[in-house]
Amino acid sequence: MTTSQRLSQAEFRRVPVKGHTRVRVCVRLRPGVGTGQGQDAPCVRGVDSHSLEILNWRNEMETMKYRFDAFYGEKATQWDIYMGSVQPILCHLLEGQNASILAYGPTGAGKTHTMLGTPDQPGVIPRALRDLLQMTRNATGDEWNYSVSMSYLEIYQEKVLDLLEPSRRDLPIREDHNHHILVPGLTQKEITSFSDFESFFLPASANRTVASTQLNQRSSRSHAVLLVWVRQTQGWPPYARRAAKLCLIDLAGSEDNRRTGNKGVRLKESGAINTSLFVLSKVVDALNQGLPRVPYRDSKLTRLLQDSLGGSAHSMIITNIAPEKRFYFDTLTSLNFAAKSKQVVNKPFTQETLPDMAAAKRPRADSKDAEPEAKRPCLEEDHQPQLEEKPLSALIPLENLKPAVAKRLLHLEALEKEHASHGSFGPPLLNTPRRERQRLVKQLEETKQKLKALQEMEAKAAQNIKPGPAPQLVANPPKKAVVLPLQRVQTPEKTQEDVTVTIIQQKKRGQKRKLIEQTSVSGCENEAPAEWEMALRPDLLARGKENILALLNTGSEKDLMALHRIGKKKARDIVAWRKLHGSFQKVEDFEKVEGVSAKQAVSFIKANILSSLGDLQSLN
Ligand code: ADP
Ligand code: MG
Repeated sequence: MTTSQRLSQAEFRRVPVKGHTRVRVCVRLRPGVGTGQGQDAPCVRGVDSHSLEILNWRNEMETMKYRFDAFYGEKATQWDIYMGSVQPILCHLLEGQNASILAYGPTGAGKTHTMLGTPDQPGVIPRALRDLLQMTRNATGDEWNYSVSMSYLEIYQEKVLDLLEPSRRDLPIREDHNHHILVPGLTQKEITSFSDFESFFLPASANRTVASTQLNQRSSRSHAVLLVWVRQTQGWPPYARRAAKLCLIDLAGSEDNRRTGNKGVRLKESGAINTSLFVLSKVVDALNQGLPRVPYRDSKLTRLLQDSLGGSAHSMIITNIAPEKRFYFDTLTSLNFAAKSKQVVNKPFTQETLPDMAAAKRPRADSKDAEPEAKRPCLEEDHQPQLEEKPLSALIPLENLKPAVAKRLLHLEALEKEHASHGSFGPPLLNTPRRERQRLVKQLEETKQKLKALQEMEAKAAQNIKPGPAPQLVANPPKKAVVLPLQRVQTPEKTQEDVTVTIIQQKKRGQKRKLIEQTSVSGCENEAPAEWEMALRPDLLARGKENILALLNTGSEKDLMALHRIGKKKARDIVAWRKLHGSFQKVEDFEKVEGVSAKQAVSFIKANILSSLGDLQSLN
């Protein structure tokens, strides 16, 4: 990706939600069927609204007690489950946070009943969709415009099938650079009403691969996953966009082949189902134990659930169990899975995209054209920034700039020249899409402003700094942080360079940390060089980054913890990342470590480089 492409890319950011949210787990016991005698006799019973007990198979005089976020007994209605455990999660979708509801449990225990239900007793899916559509309609107003769309897929024998377009089989599952799980090629339908939803969902449900076994007349042989996206666009600058995903999953049950009498294809199906549920259980184990490798990729189901378990979602597992003795071991396995699932801690965050600044300057659109951005009036028509005649590269020695900045400046100036020589609308900019043109012009303007500020700072610095001994590199940098020499003093008013100056002036180490904290709050999040980076001599900045990189690649956990913003867990995660992926290629790769956001990575680099400047000063 070129620098200009990176610059023009809309800014993606994750706004962390306060605190952590663990996976919520509830258990639903379906009413008993059969004679109630022998193998149909009940072996489980509810204790209160959170607990249940099951016979101990080693000693039938004893019971084992389990406690969950909620327990729903045989008399609980669909409404009880929905209102108690599902509806409270939905509001997070309107804040741009993911959510998942997952029905787990043995075949015949009531998963499909809970998720889908019947026309008389609608389950979680129809209730959630009806409410969500209503909530987005109510919430659409001046500030945010909402839209809802859906996809529906099943995982059958480790293949992803598009239920809305059954000809699309064996679709891949991918992860984008923001760690979103995607299924390229999957049909997505926009829905504005509940009848829209039904018109897609009902025929698609009929496409589900179901077959009868001896155990369950319509035993689901596949995992069915309904994906619902809630997208929102801000009605005024900066026209932020958010997208949240709701996963509603009806899992196939884990089959005991001896009991179901499965043979041939059915046996193969059972194998695939068992494998994915086994991996699901391994994933939960790994998350609970904080293992460096979580085997999400070992099955399609867990890969798809990667951002629902131990990821970014508010998750609810509804464990369905049956009361009859013949289900005893399946019930026990399910309860044990449920018990360990509730220890998984998710870190929900709001996913927000800020469009580029050119878009942000557009006048407020009415609600209709809030979605298709192209319809909005164009900056070019309203106001063309005035370009100055003198090229900046002539004013500022390019060797003083970071290579990437110098390259970008030259590129933009070349474009500007061509632009001027062909008149306002001449080639090649004419051939460039209008939005791209705006962006280039905007970038040029921004670069100029930054460089001008830099030039002013340099002039001031030249006046202020008395000649002194050249800064020295510390031979053996303490492991605490990477130590770098100070480059120069700049004093623009109320910019981030202020912080650099203040750190230089600090004599006390204690105060320094506080300042570093401040820098991180206003830390630059763009991939373009931040102002604080531009304020440092490029070779020193590069060396500082190299030192941090070396420590990231070779430091022990203890060494890493000496860096700013690296605690015990992060240090462990870095070492784990190295084991899995090898070396970090550049210091910015720190962002790839599990749980590290772009903002944290920037803040980490900045804090350590600025700290090294302060260290040097305190040695002087
Ligand atoms: P699963 O999807 O787990 O294999 P199902 O949802 O198909 O199980 O349920 C098996 C049978 O039990 C179905 O006939 C279903 O209608 C019935 N059933 C399940 N849960 C309940 C419940 N809570 N109340 C009434 N009937 C139920
Ligand atoms: Mg089912």
